[in-house]
Amino acid sequence: MDLFKTMAGYGYGEVHVRRDEASGLSAIIAIHDTRLGPSLGGCRFIHYADEGAAFTDALRLARGMSYKAAITGLDLGGGKSVLIRPKGEFDRARLFEDFGRFIDNLGGRYITAEDSGTATADMDVIRTKTKFVTGVSKEKGGSGDPSPYTALGVRRGIEASVKFKLGRASLDGVHVTVQGVGHVGYYLCKELHALGARLTVCDMDATRTARCADEFKATVVAADSILDVEADVFAPCALGAGINDETIPRLKVKIVAGAANNVLAEPRHGDALRGKGIAYAPDYAINAGGLCNVAQEVQGYDEGKVRERVVKIYDTIYTVLERAEREGVSPHVVADRMAEERLAQR
Ligand code: NAD
Repeated sequence: MDLFKTMAGYGYGEVHVRRDEASGLSAIIAIHDTRLGPSLGGCRFIHYADEGAAFTDALRLARGMSYKAAITGLDLGGGKSVLIRPKGEFDRARLFEDFGRFIDNLGGRYITAEDSGTATADMDVIRTKTKFVTGVSKEKGGSGDPSPYTALGVRRGIEASVKFKLGRASLDGVHVTVQGVGHVGYYLCKELHALGARLTVCDMDATRTARCADEFKATVVAADSILDVEADVFAPCALGAGINDETIPRLKVKIVAGAANNVLAEPRHGDALRGKGIAYAPDYAINAGGLCNVAQEVQGYDEGKVRERVVKIYDTIYTVLERAEREGVSPHVVADRMAEERLAQR
């Protein structure tokens, strides 16, 4: 891989790597932008086909964190770490201790959190070697699971989208289809049900959908038919790239607003949604509630302050949709512009 050329392509100046034979650690820390504050972003611990794929993932994800923090009004930069998962046996605690020392050596320019393949328990191990870690368990003074706050932010984003697109100030009777009722999807259903929304859900895991049917009177459909359900809002809360050439023609909704990261397979799919008259709440703007939660750990955790910040996602999404209409472009383009404008102020 042509590393410096790839870094230039993502607008980078700084990437750190560390390898340790004894623990099996192969770590990349990508720091995209620190103009607004120290970089914060999760630690991904998965298998990669090759090192190039791991670097590209770190660069792409850290850049996304810069945009997410900027549009949310947080004084944080964008960073992300990727640990290439060892193929054979390894000592997990030793590996994360070693990673903690690596983070500590950067003196606070990068602060970590959970991401795919890591959990609160790993953050607790990292915490034994550095203070530059969030997503630590509540018992250890951290904020625990961020997904209820991600869900709260998504609910606020849905409210803003419904107000903008349908002219309705309440979610009472609004029909929302939720794809994936795992961590965020479950809490989102709870939020929406409390406000009188009608729910249709799907998941690959039947116990998860059954829980939503029991607790929130949700209608359950097969995973491959959720896109065919006529509703007001589609909330993707499973995997990325769910909005693509195959799925867009099937959508029978007015709004797409959910937690899934990188939900547009390509930026042009944001334009395709606009072409169909569907309002799209950009992923990194609507799903920033979890980031608000871990960010508060940096300043000393205060649940009230987190809620105060997360409910403002309503204003962000409403502004994005309004400005997109005024400027005659798609909402994902406006979100990027708003993030870049804030970054350029520093
Ligand atoms: P999760 O793994 O707990 O839940 C995802 C659920 O989607 C699972 O129940 C899974 O069975 C289901 N699923 C997978 N493929 C599916 C399919 N094709 N159709 C229907 N269901 C399917 O993950 P999560 O933490 O709830 O995150 C969901 C999404 O939100 C991800 O894209 C994640 O990156 C994003 N996100 C999460 C957070 C957070 O706080 N957890 C924050 C920001 C963004």
